[in-house]
Amino acid sequence: MKILISNDDGYQAPGIVALYEALKGLAEVEVVAPEHNNSAKSNALSLHSPLYVHTAHNGFRYVNGTPADCVHIALTGLLGYRPDLVVSGINNGANMGDDTIYSGTVGAAMEGYLFGIPAIAFSQTEKGWAHLEDAGAMAARLVTQLLPSLENGPVDPWLLNVNIPNQPLDQMRGFKVARLGRRHAAEQVISQTNPRGDTMYWIGSAGKAKDDAEGTDFHASLQGYATITPLKVDLTDHDRLAYWAPTAAQLSNEGKAP
Ligand code: MN
Repeated sequence: MKILISNDDGYQAPGIVALYEALKGLAEVEVVAPEHNNSAKSNALSLHSPLYVHTAHNGFRYVNGTPADCVHIALTGLLGYRPDLVVSGINNGANMGDDTIYSGTVGAAMEGYLFGIPAIAFSQTEKGWAHLEDAGAMAARLVTQLLPSLENGPVDPWLLNVNIPNQPLDQMRGFKVARLGRRHAAEQVISQTNPRGDTMYWIGSAGKAKDDAEGTDFHASLQGYATITPLKVDLTDHDRLAYWAPTAAQLSNEGKAP
């Protein structure tokens, strides 16, 4: 079994080292990750600048690109084989609710999924790396459970988003399947004046949880569970297809001879 590991916090982040250490005994594991912090880069690909790959002393390969770049080039030529699983993380902080749209951690995993490979994005719910080894142990538990199903060749790919509470392993209540919650809109942009007198803007913090009802990732993680949310990529609002059909029909009839 072969596992590709990436992340968005960069190849030197404690989270990816912990994930590598936790999984290296379970399969052949390779790391291809961004050189620098690429949080909130979602699925971005670098189309207008060349990518370079270097190998660090610990064998991790790092790329001057985004999380999706790393997985993309790994799967389309760099590795020279097709991994059975792509994992991303462990991210420094939660990727719950709306975070999944922006998350580079999810973006790296999603890139694997788009290539037809099962993929998991791992995040710790709080920043700061507290109880990181315990999060690694939880990740290893899940991967151990899933690997046998991948052993008989390609499967219908799936994409899991996993958030792990920052707490000791013996206090984890286990895993719980949860839907994504929702956040309020982000905080106001922060403007400052730079030393040359120009105005600069800093993106504000993510909003607080708006929908953290029972059944959501926000709720279950606060109860001490590691949450598993299966994600899909199709953004179509299927319930509203019928609602918009008359608008499209009206526009199509305009200008036509009666
Ligand atoms: Mn990150």
